[in-house]
Amino acid sequence: MQVFLDLMWFFRQHKTRYITGIILLIMVALLSLIPPRIVGLVINALTHHELTHAMLYRDLFIILVTALATYGIRYLWRIMLFGGAIQLATELRTKLYDHFTIMSPEFYHHKRTGDLMAHSTNDVQAIQETASEGVLTLVDSIVTGSVVITTMAFLNWKLTVVSLLPMPIMAFAVTRYGKMLHDRFYLAQAAFSDINDRVQEYVSGIRVIRAFGQENWERKNFITLSRDVVNKSVAVARIDSLFDPTISIIVGLSYFLSIAIGAIFVVHGTLNLGNLTTFTLYLGQLIWPMLAFGFLFNIVERGRASYERVESLLSVSPTITDKKGAKEQVPSGAITYAIRQFSYPGTAHVVLKDISLVIEQGHTLGIVGRTGSGKTTLLRLLLREFDLKPEEGDIVIGGVSIQDVTLSALRSSIAYAPQDAFIFSQSVLDNIAFANPKASREDIVKAAYQAGVLEDIEQFPNGFETIIGERGTNLSGGQKQRISIARSLLQQAEILLLDDTLSAVDARTETHILDQIKNVRQGRTTIIATHRLRTVEHADQIIVLENGTIVEQGTHEYLWSLGGRYWDMYRRQQLETQVERGGVEV
Ligand code: ADP
Repeated sequence: MQVFLDLMWFFRQHKTRYITGIILLIMVALLSLIPPRIVGLVINALTHHELTHAMLYRDLFIILVTALATYGIRYLWRIMLFGGAIQLATELRTKLYDHFTIMSPEFYHHKRTGDLMAHSTNDVQAIQETASEGVLTLVDSIVTGSVVITTMAFLNWKLTVVSLLPMPIMAFAVTRYGKMLHDRFYLAQAAFSDINDRVQEYVSGIRVIRAFGQENWERKNFITLSRDVVNKSVAVARIDSLFDPTISIIVGLSYFLSIAIGAIFVVHGTLNLGNLTTFTLYLGQLIWPMLAFGFLFNIVERGRASYERVESLLSVSPTITDKKGAKEQVPSGAITYAIRQFSYPGTAHVVLKDISLVIEQGHTLGIVGRTGSGKTTLLRLLLREFDLKPEEGDIVIGGVSIQDVTLSALRSSIAYAPQDAFIFSQSVLDNIAFANPKASREDIVKAAYQAGVLEDIEQFPNGFETIIGERGTNLSGGQKQRISIARSLLQQAEILLLDDTLSAVDARTETHILDQIKNVRQGRTTIIATHRLRTVEHADQIIVLENGTIVEQGTHEYLWSLGGRYWDMYRRQQLETQVERGGVEV
């Protein structure tokens, strides 16, 4: 029953709703006592030949009114309890969603999407059931059960004791089943998470799976997981299905005892026929509270497992948060990197070392280097996707450490087009406007033009209104990148970060985009990370990264004149382009 205490915060918030619901449930229990009593009285009157028409009509009328009142009250308590539970589910889902949005990338490295989906669907559903059917079965088994039993005891306490004798067996059986159910349900939920994960990965990686002809292999994998879910769910169902038969046997035994012993009492004249009839009808009314008692354990066990899972997820605090006293001031000015060394959390591998760099406000910085040299990490640190520890160094904008301003202020000053452009399955327009939902259509079209994607969009079947398939499946890599650039340009932020976002764009379009960026971003800082040196040739400053360290730094002309790494890489890329073009000088 721990889960009811866990959910107490919610019940308190919705006191009136729950108290009304419970009072209505008790009213139904009391009303249900009336018809059996009347039936008993009618039978007694019949046996004594005292039943008159008037009495019969009056009794039938009372039974009818009771039935109608029960109908209305049942409708109302359902709205109260079930409506409350839906609110709880909505609240939990919102809590989870809010929590997911503040968690840092580190969290997502450890959690699988399928797990998170299972928490937001299955687990929330199980908790919702606890707050509705759980409360219902709790009240019905305990309150209704006691009301009926007490009334039965008033009729004949000896018969009540005898007919309730099988009850302890039931209490023992359901407690035992409940425990087994809890363990098995936990395993079944975990298996469900696994399969959720697999399907998610399968759907998003369908192109790769097809390209490598791995459909059959994936299918086999899926079948194995699916069997596992079936086996574990069947294990739950096996226990679940023991509940009803066990309870039926016990109910049958109770009936047997009450009629057998009751008949003896009638023969000996200690109980009249009407009261025995009323008694057996009451016993019939005990079936639901008894069943509810069984269900209660079942629901509560499920609810507890799910609540534990959701709580443990909500209790993980985000690693990147606003520092105490952080200012809500949008940072502006020169960017200074002073990093002694940086490793990703939980790893020993040093990714950046001895980075000392100043980017003047309004300048363009080019970061070049091989894959894995640390280009993206430099940008992610500026965005505070990971925080530098004090001993690792600091990044300062306009004299203020990025850790001294709030995350929202920092991120509003930075527009970021990441390496793997994420495209939502919405219209092209919405995808670009994502950075600034209030932007006018004119501004969106302008951003698309600047990003060199306007012509492409105009050729789409519905232009800007074309809906993009999930994760941009109907777009080319270059189109995705350019939409992502348009999105970042629309933000008109103080700092623009392009992380290898021009890699799939042809040379002519690239020149157009770079010209546009230079034009529209005058006086604002731009950082372009790329492995293609031509992209940053015109930058005010270029740094060459190698194994996380700056090995060369300066303008294109200066680096070229050095005849070092930059020169070497540049020459090699020139040759590659020349070969691609069939020997024409570039
Ligand atoms: P680049 O952008 O130049 O290709 P990255 O900054 O992405 O380089 O990566 C630099 C190094 O950091 C690589 O060795 C990479 O394996 C490592 N790395 C990147 N992201 C993570 C992460 N989240 N956790 C651990 N190591 C990482």
